[in-house]
Amino acid sequence: MNDLRDLYQEVILDHNKRPRNFRVLDPHTHEADGHNPLCGDRVTVYLEVEGDVIEDLAFQGSGCAISTASASLMTEILKGKSLSEVEGLFDAFHDVVTSQGEIPPGLGKLAILAGVRDYPSRVKCATLAWHTLRAALEHRAEPVATEQ
Ligand code: ZN
Repeated sequence: MNDLRDLYQEVILDHNKRPRNFRVLDPHTHEADGHNPLCGDRVTVYLEVEGDVIEDLAFQGSGCAISTASASLMTEILKGKSLSEVEGLFDAFHDVVTSQGEIPPGLGKLAILAGVRDYPSRVKCATLAWHTLRAALEHRAEPVATEQ
């Protein structure tokens, strides 16, 4: 198990050092800010949604290695996914980091973050970007004028 843990650690450190899709997405259709006061993590998620598909997504922010790596992995995995696929992945990911159940095979690289389940205080770091993404998507019915 130690080798596996080292590998996971390496992926998280790599994504923290060189976060993928770390930029302002311009133009974008959705945007939301997230904050995890327990750790001080801050993230802004940008989405370009066309019809039912996330055509592109990106993020900005600052936080601990777990929150940055989680946001980075999320943007990598969700690009090109439909909104219903995103919902499924959100639920599966949330289960994985908050329970001790089996890790479903469809999660791919997201399974790397399953390690946080042993550190309850880090769960919010791992899920911050996902909650922020969901908030961004839920704003879609609101008038554009209310968005910043
Ligand atoms: Zn954190």
